[in-house]
Amino acid sequence: MTIYAPPPEFPSRDATDPGLLGAVARGEARLAPEQALELLTSAPIHALGRAADARCRAVHGDSVRTYVIDRNINYTNVCTARCTFCAFYRTAEAPDAYTLEYEQLFEKIEQLSAIGGTQILMQGGMNPELPLDWYIDLLNEIREGYPHIHVHAFSPPEFIEFVHFFNPPGKNLEEKCRWVMVRLKEAGLHSIPGGGGEIFAPAVRSKIGMGKCDAEAWLTVMYVAHSLGMYTSATMMFGHIEGLADRVHHMGLVRQWQDRALREFGEGVPPTDIAGDPGVKDTSTGGHYTAFISWPFQPENTPLGRLKEWPAPGDVQAHGPAFPGDAIARLDASGTKDQHPEFGRRLRRAGATQYLRTQALSRLFLDNIYSIGSSWVTMGPHIGQVALQFGANDMGSVMMEENVVSSAGTTYCLDEAVLCRLIRDAGFTPAQRNNTYDVIRLHSDGSSPDRRVSDWSQHRAKRLHQEQAIEVKGTAELTVGATGS
Ligand code: SF4
Repeated sequence: MTIYAPPPEFPSRDATDPGLLGAVARGEARLAPEQALELLTSAPIHALGRAADARCRAVHGDSVRTYVIDRNINYTNVCTARCTFCAFYRTAEAPDAYTLEYEQLFEKIEQLSAIGGTQILMQGGMNPELPLDWYIDLLNEIREGYPHIHVHAFSPPEFIEFVHFFNPPGKNLEEKCRWVMVRLKEAGLHSIPGGGGEIFAPAVRSKIGMGKCDAEAWLTVMYVAHSLGMYTSATMMFGHIEGLADRVHHMGLVRQWQDRALREFGEGVPPTDIAGDPGVKDTSTGGHYTAFISWPFQPENTPLGRLKEWPAPGDVQAHGPAFPGDAIARLDASGTKDQHPEFGRRLRRAGATQYLRTQALSRLFLDNIYSIGSSWVTMGPHIGQVALQFGANDMGSVMMEENVVSSAGTTYCLDEAVLCRLIRDAGFTPAQRNNTYDVIRLHSDGSSPDRRVSDWSQHRAKRLHQEQAIEVKGTAELTVGATGS
């Protein structure tokens, strides 16, 4: 078996050197973190976009761009964490706290199946009242009742809380996490979503993710999943208190741990029946990150969103022009919050330009990640469409509901036809994919969802459907989102 080796770095080259960017696009060179920061900070946006597009075309070709039909099921909103960017969590005593009954969950899966969906993205708050058997029984029943549905569920912070709640055997976090994950995998868990990534740098993370696991723990959960032959994704939520170097540091850790996964577990397709005995490391599982999705922070209804935007009156005179996040951000995340008095007290929101720049950089910097997702649900469908020219190969998920991001701001919904039209109008053939990025329906002929539409005035973007809206209507309506991770 060939051992994976990343492409070489050329740190002395200027980041915008066309020769370097061409080599990166062809997979023959790797950006150094300093070069990535230079690109993010000062490269002209069209140069960044062109380079990311070239890299995307080298990996995915010129013709097809994809989406998946899945349903985002938030099984509980009860959570022990208090993330300052979250408007979704509730205490157990809150009048609107909920945990879905199995029957409610199955009904949602039935509706998904009825419209040709292939996957559920199931994440929740971290609810200490739910025992391990609740998860195992649920997964067993889903597997038996809906064997065609891929279960993409339980992000790393949930796994860390499983370890705290269930107190499994093991000498360290990795072993304890493996004990839990093996059991959930045997019960029917297929892959792990990258929720809860946010920003890894400790100074930022400790300010925004109160009660949530640190970066090392997050990455360890994913490492365990990879060792068991599972695919996972990685995410980043930016545009709040972080500096630009924090974004590069975050992506750098994903790249580094992906190198490790590819080196240790191979690049092959994971077998479907890895035994996964606790403590046993299979060196040919093929588990790794398949996708990276980043999106800007949505501030509405959140404590973090109530911070003043930088610069507030008097800030520049008192502290200089540098945004506090940039003043303390380091590529090795060694900056500390006491290095700027306003760090964590000022917001710098990301608009369309920052979103596109950051996504384009992720395509170039994360040379070992196959899919870069356009997370347009927060930016609108047309920015999401432009994102296909800035390194994204995938438009995310056609979802039937979304509750977490839509609790914190404006999100959009589209039906499948509009999504296909957006992809086609961007110059590509739309295709429905599965969780492993295999094309399952190529929409190249007259029967494509968009080509069956006779009146486009009925298919404009709307705000995302809330769960109640779907249930009141009593029908399974498609909505489209791109925060699915
Ligand atoms: S983001 Fe997730 S972990 Fe954080 S408070 Fe909200 S539900 Fe809990």
